Amino acid sequence: MQTINASIITIGDELLIGQTIDTNSAYIAQELNKIGIWMRRRVAVGDVYNDIWKALDEEGSHSQIVIITGGLGPTADDITKPLLCNYFGGTLVVNEKVLAHVKHLFEVVFRRPGPILERNLKQAEVPDVCTVLFNERGTAPGMLFTKPNAAPDAPPTLFFSLPGVPHEMKGLMNKEVIPAILKAFHMPAIVHRTSVTFGQGESMIAEMLKDFEAGLPDTVKLAYLPNYGIVKLRLTGRGNTTDEANQLVEPLFQQLQELVKESLVSNHDEGLESVVGNILLKKGKTMGTAESCTGGYIAHLITSRRGSSAYYKGSVISYANEIKEHLLGVSPQTLTTAGAVSEETVQQMVKGALSELNTDYALVTSGIMGPDGGSDEKPVGTVWVAAGTRLPDGNLHIETLQLHLRFDRMRNISMTANHALNFLRKFILRY
Ligand code: ATP
Ligand code: MG
Repeated sequence: MQTINASIITIGDELLIGQTIDTNSAYIAQELNKIGIWMRRRVAVGDVYNDIWKALDEEGSHSQIVIITGGLGPTADDITKPLLCNYFGGTLVVNEKVLAHVKHLFEVVFRRPGPILERNLKQAEVPDVCTVLFNERGTAPGMLFTKPNAAPDAPPTLFFSLPGVPHEMKGLMNKEVIPAILKAFHMPAIVHRTSVTFGQGESMIAEMLKDFEAGLPDTVKLAYLPNYGIVKLRLTGRGNTTDEANQLVEPLFQQLQELVKESLVSNHDEGLESVVGNILLKKGKTMGTAESCTGGYIAHLITSRRGSSAYYKGSVISYANEIKEHLLGVSPQTLTTAGAVSEETVQQMVKGALSELNTDYALVTSGIMGPDGGSDEKPVGTVWVAAGTRLPDGNLHIETLQLHLRFDRMRNISMTANHALNFLRKFILRY
């Protein structure tokens, strides 16, 4: 099967110095990967004429698809367009459709008073040797340049130039770039199947999957995607048709799930908040949260999912002791003797959350996220999690979990949220 290689060139000094994080490359790579294109290289260059030129030469020599983002705007540092025009031997001409669009944006959408600046009108100029990729979302159009290949029969190399603004780049990727690639190359059918695991490290899982991985055919690849305690395992299979790819991947996917069943959370590409949401929906039950150290982050994860109002009622962000005491009914004595980060406190928080929020389940957190606030007895990273419910006999049932994390503040918060959601998941499956 033919392998199509791709390269990404991101342009901009701000990317090199780390002022802007290059999220465009990640998005583009993922979209290309989905249709079975192999990423060969990702290159970042500054706003320097010779460097951009050299990058085009190099990437064009080994990739059939080169995607360039950035430097298309109206400011002096945006040199990509004239450069591409020279590189592909064209001249800049006004594109009437783009001109009308730029005028429409300035006059009707942005409602800018006064005449449009010359530099903005210049955005409607494009090299006469390119195909214009119409940018609905902004003023700078995308461009497609085709370079014939020296080798006979080989397809030409496609160079796509896209604006740097992520929202505009994404629109062009989906509307123009992907369809153009599918049209230009005979792409194999691609099937992805993803398992989500929690609680086992990536290396541990790799060890368990050693033989499985070694036995995979060339047309199937296994990817490990770790993220805050989660490891997603993605199998990607290629075939001449989708049916063929499915038949190849399905039995392997079953085998994979069996091998990791101890830590398996889902056989779809989803987060823990979504797994928990699905179980609650199925049971017709509700939940609420009381968050101290995660400060509403768990609530944010849960409510980021569409349809969460069917099972999620709300949260008490009980960051201060005063709130734990007055809104959740944690006893002041517990707070003084055992402390806010203690098993007793989270147990009382669950009790308060269940009655105040009036839900079937409650999930609570209290911990020390750092970098300050630790002690010998309770170092930074000490966290208590509790989940609770009222059993059919009317009794409260509460379970707790202690964590010892060792990361920076933001990572501790994310890890706590995932551990807590996984703890609740297991709790709900049992009670
Ligand atoms: P503009 O018309 O806005 O000037 P442009 O094509 O010239 O667009 P840039 O000037 O390079 O693009 O960047 C525009 C915006 O997009 C900036 O805010 C920049 O930080 C952001 N941006 C550029 N490249 C990337 C990237 N690779 N990943 C994420 N953001 C990016
Ligand atoms: Mg710019």
